[in-house]
Amino acid sequence: SYYKNIEETEKDIDAFITLTKDEALRTARNIDEKIANNEEVGLLAGIPIAVKDNIATRGIKTTCGSKILENFVSPYDATVVEKIKREDAIIIGKTNMDEFAMGSSTETSYFKKTKNPHDLERVPGGSSGGSAAAVAGFEAPLSLGSETGGSVREPASFCGVVGLKPTYGLISRYGLIAFASSLDQIGPFARNVEDTALLLSVLAGYDEKDSTSVENKSIDYTKELNSNVKGMKFALPKEYFGEGIDEKVKAKVLEAVEVLKGLGAEVEEISLPYTEYALSCYYIISTSEASSNLARFDGIRYGYRAENYKDLDELYINTRSEGFGEEVKRRIMLGTFALSSGYYDAYYNKAQKIRTLIKRDFDKAFEKYDAIISPTAPILPFKIGEKINDPLSMYMSDILTVSVNLAGVCAISVPCGNLNGLPVGLQIIGDRFKEQKILNIAYTYE
Ligand code: GLN
Repeated sequence: SYYKNIEETEKDIDAFITLTKDEALRTARNIDEKIANNEEVGLLAGIPIAVKDNIATRGIKTTCGSKILENFVSPYDATVVEKIKREDAIIIGKTNMDEFAMGSSTETSYFKKTKNPHDLERVPGGSSGGSAAAVAGFEAPLSLGSETGGSVREPASFCGVVGLKPTYGLISRYGLIAFASSLDQIGPFARNVEDTALLLSVLAGYDEKDSTSVENKSIDYTKELNSNVKGMKFALPKEYFGEGIDEKVKAKVLEAVEVLKGLGAEVEEISLPYTEYALSCYYIISTSEASSNLARFDGIRYGYRAENYKDLDELYINTRSEGFGEEVKRRIMLGTFALSSGYYDAYYNKAQKIRTLIKRDFDKAFEKYDAIISPTAPILPFKIGEKINDPLSMYMSDILTVSVNLAGVCAISVPCGNLNGLPVGLQIIGDRFKEQKILNIAYTYE
C-alpha cells in the first residue's frame, strides 16, 4: 500500500534516491509467513521505514547525496539499520538529502530537489528533507534522519511532522557517514509523538562500535508516554523570540504555549545570552570537523575516481574537484582555514570555548526548568531556489537549532498549527537524556 502511495506521489515529491521495492516485498512476505506460523515478530513488524542516504545499508547504495559516492554500496549495515531489521521493519528506500548533510533545504543534493508535500514550490527543509517529506507525503510512516545542526528538526517543522534530535551518545553513530563527529546524531521522524517514541525505543542504546555511545539501559519510551504537564516549569528564551524570527511564526508558537499554561504548567521568560554566538561557533566547529572527516574521499578508498590524471596528486585533486559539489567544497575550505596554523587559536580554539559557554547556558536553565520552548525554525518553508545562492541567509535558518547540538542536549519538533497551509513547528528542548520528558510534553499537542 505504501508503494502504491509512492507510485502516485513520488514524481511530485522526489523524496527518494533509491527505492528497494523487490527486497522490501520479499521481507514483507517473510514477516507475513512468520505471523502465519505463529512465530514471534519484532516491535516494528511489517512497518515500512525510509532511511536517510548517509546511513549505511548493506547491499543498497548509500550515496550521501553526493556524486563522489554515487555508486557506493556499503559492505555492512549501520547499527541503527541492524536494529530496525532485528525488529522486523521493512526498509523501503533511501531518502534524498543535502550533499554530506550540508544544507537546510535538501537543494545541495547531487541527485534531485525534494519538494515540500504541503506546497510543491517550497523546500522540505534539510538536510534530512527526503526523510521528512516521505513521512509527510504518506510515502512512509516512519523514517530515519541525521542531525549535525538541526537537520531533523528543521525539516520536521517545514513538513509538519514530528522529528527528534536525541542526546549526543544515545543512538549509535556506527555506519552514519561522518559530517562533524562531535555533533552528529541519528534521529527519528514520524507522523505523531507515539510513533516517534516507538522508533526511538528501538534506536537508542549502547553500542560498543561507537566510542561516544553512552552506556545506558534500553528504555521503552511508549510505556510512560503521558501528557501530564501540570506543575512543570517551562522557559521561553528571549533570544529565540527576537530578531530574525517571523512575527507570525512567533505568534503561532506563543499561542501553542498557552495550551501548556492551560494544563497547569508555569511559563517564564529567560535569557540564554550566548545564543548570539551559536551560529558562528557551529559553522567553525562543524566545518573544521568536516574538513578532516571528508579527507577520506580521495578516489582511492571509496566511490568516484576521476578519469584523467597524470600522477597521484592530480588523481586526488581531480577526483575531489569533480566529485564534491559547491557547498561541500565551501565547507572543506572554511574548515581547513579554521584549523590551519596561525588561525587555529583565533577560530577553532575560540569556538570550542564558546561551545562550553553555550552548554553552561543550558545547564543553568535546566537547574530550574523542565524544558525550553521556542519555534523550531525562524521562518516558514521558503521557495525552492530562494536561498541557494546566498549561503549566509541559508545558514540563518539554523539559528534556533544549532545550540542544542553544540550542547549535546535533546530536542523535539512537533507541529503546532499552520499559516496559509504551511506547517509551523514548536521546539521543546530538554536536558541530557530527558527524551521521555520532551516526548511527554510534545504529546500534549496530539
Ligand atoms: N543546516 C545545517 C548545516 O548545513 C545543519 C546540517 C545538519 O544538521 N546535518 O550544517
